[in-house]
Amino acid sequence: MSTLADSSHPTRPAIAWIGLGIMGSPMSENLIKAGYDVTGFTLEQDKLDRLAKAGGRAAGSIAEAVKDADVVITMVPASPQVEAIAYGPDGILDNARSGALLIDMSSITPQTSVDLAKAAKDKGIRVLDAPVSGGEAGAIEAVLSIMVGGEQADFDEAEPVLEALGKTIVLCGPHGSGQTVKAANQLIVAVNIQACAEAVVFLEKSGVDLTAALDVLNGGLAGSTVLTRKKDNFLQRDFKPGFRIDLHHKDMGIVTDAARNVGAALPVGAVVAQLVASLRAQGDGGLDHSALLRAVERLSGAQV
Ligand code: NAD
Repeated sequence: MSTLADSSHPTRPAIAWIGLGIMGSPMSENLIKAGYDVTGFTLEQDKLDRLAKAGGRAAGSIAEAVKDADVVITMVPASPQVEAIAYGPDGILDNARSGALLIDMSSITPQTSVDLAKAAKDKGIRVLDAPVSGGEAGAIEAVLSIMVGGEQADFDEAEPVLEALGKTIVLCGPHGSGQTVKAANQLIVAVNIQACAEAVVFLEKSGVDLTAALDVLNGGLAGSTVLTRKKDNFLQRDFKPGFRIDLHHKDMGIVTDAARNVGAALPVGAVVAQLVASLRAQGDGGLDHSALLRAVERLSGAQV
């Protein structure tokens, strides 16, 4: 089995990128800027055109994208999409070369990552789960936190590639560990957004200058990356995604399920999961997760 070190691209592995959405587009463009050859495939033609304009190559299928790649990176919505692109005759496992490294950066269930690593091993393909935190802004600025699960040797090979995408890159343990840490991340982010949303409604109803209040709050113990990144969304009621409520609903399901499996109680997380589900049921699934503010406004009697 060959590895990246003895590939035909010893210093700059050839990259295939599957999934060029809100995150995948800017992330793949950062690899191109760092000097990597990137061949991509995604479902939307305009995203393929964007990749080509940025200096990448647009492929017509997953098979075409991955066939000559040393590293295959995937960034799709959830477990069913990861399974759809990985398995089957048109999928990554049947078409990538033996020795390739598959880095799945999607946020999915830890068990899907474990199963994928096992299935890929039979084909001589190594896998890392490497979900990210930092949002669209973090992707554009290449400052993502990347939580990795898998083998140390594969992590060491992936690190230079990941360094073009993020700032904090940590191997958390065996396959699935990156996803478990990401699930915890999504719990913390959702609860934090909910607390900020409740504070915003409380402050506005109290007649306090909201901009001044959020500025001073962000300088103290109540400050957070969530408040820094989402302050303008709250102030301007700008809920263009960003990170869609639909995806956070998926993530609250992952963390709730994973916690139940290990016997961990998440009482506040469970309530926030319900609020996210309620927002989605009211047709707000396509909005940014800062739209949790709309749920608090509705509960507080405002016309939204
Ligand atoms: P997105 O919906 O914007 O993009 C997903 C992309 O996957 C689309 O371009 C779609 O064409 C592609 N895709 C889906 N099925 C495919 C298939 N069968 N073949 C090829 N391409 C396919 O989603 P996103 O916001 O970029 O999120 C991607 C992942 O990153 C999710 O797991 C999400 O939870 C996670 N994430 C998102 C953010 C964020 O702020 N948006 C932050 C951290 C993590």
